[in-house]
Amino acid sequence: MSIENVIIIGSGPAGFTAGIYAGRAQLKPLLFTGNDIGGQVAITYEVENYPGFPEGLPGPELVERFQKQAERFGARIEYDYVSEVDFTRHPFVVRTQSGSEYQAKSVIIATGATPRKLQVPGEQELVGRGVSYCATCDGFFFRGKDVVVVGGGDSALEEGLFLTRFADKVTIIHRRDELRASKILQKRAFENEKVDFIWDTIVTSINAGESGAVASVTLKNVKTGETREFPTEGVFIFIGHEPNGWMFEGQLEMKDGYIVTDRNMHASVPGVFAAGEIQDNHFRQVATSVGQGAMAAMEAEKFLAELEDEGYEAVKAKMLGQELVPA
Ligand code: NAP
Repeated sequence: MSIENVIIIGSGPAGFTAGIYAGRAQLKPLLFTGNDIGGQVAITYEVENYPGFPEGLPGPELVERFQKQAERFGARIEYDYVSEVDFTRHPFVVRTQSGSEYQAKSVIIATGATPRKLQVPGEQELVGRGVSYCATCDGFFFRGKDVVVVGGGDSALEEGLFLTRFADKVTIIHRRDELRASKILQKRAFENEKVDFIWDTIVTSINAGESGAVASVTLKNVKTGETREFPTEGVFIFIGHEPNGWMFEGQLEMKDGYIVTDRNMHASVPGVFAAGEIQDNHFRQVATSVGQGAMAAMEAEKFLAELEDEGYEAVKAKMLGQELVPA
């Protein structure tokens, strides 16, 4: 089995950017796309805030461009899902869902996070036709419309407030009668006349109208059990994110499901790097993930040069600030 210089896990903005940088550094990176190429940006109707595209562009087109650029510099793309890793030995071992096994001198993890789903009828089918997980991306398309926001945390309120720039009315639907969000955001939301709240209520289905786009949600009051239909053209769901990192538990230092890195994208095992939303639950932007992917690849390049000169045990000891114990 040949040993890869760098395996990149994930095909969102961070993964592909790591592919572009590692490719240009002549490292011939091997990139695993996962089940859904492009990650969250691939389900974004239009990206308007990514520098260099003043007119904006559809999320899937941006993914296609990222991929082309990575391939141009020699990145090899595998349409496979990484299901298991072994970072306890070096070269590292990476196994995929299709049953293949690979060895790698370094690994860049860019598996991202997935917005938590409501898992109600209509949700999946209406993504891009009224259902959204990103107000920054899609809010603009709801100018003059009435929308609902589901959730009671900081994201729901912050994104709900952002949506008031476009929508006529933003109704926040929360399953309890008390918000989880910070007091300052609560104050802003309560004072904003475009924002309404529906308390103690869950969404039990999202319903399409004749046009095939969202027309209403079915609501259920969890205290009284009463159900009703509530008309709306947009459903923004902010009920938290799930980092896609279960396969790294026990191998790397993690916090709340996210990989812990230093400022240079180094994970707790020397030679393993993480970039994008698998290690950042705060910024969550294409532009920030791209930057982190570039940083991870540059650090991997540096690591590989040192590995060549000094060997893994010496580099590891140096990185962990430990004395190298003679064999
Ligand atoms: P979060 O704090 O976990 O809040 C998720 C919200 O969704 C909660 O109100 C929760 O209800 C609700 N929820 C969860 N599952 C649900 C379901 N199945 N159906 C209906 N409602 C459901 O997530 P977040 O708002 O994305 O924030 C994540 C982290 O980022 C937090 O630490 C937050 O402080 C931080 N953040 C900070 C800022 C800021 O500082 N400006 C902005 C955004 C995010 P319950 O309350 O009943 O559990």
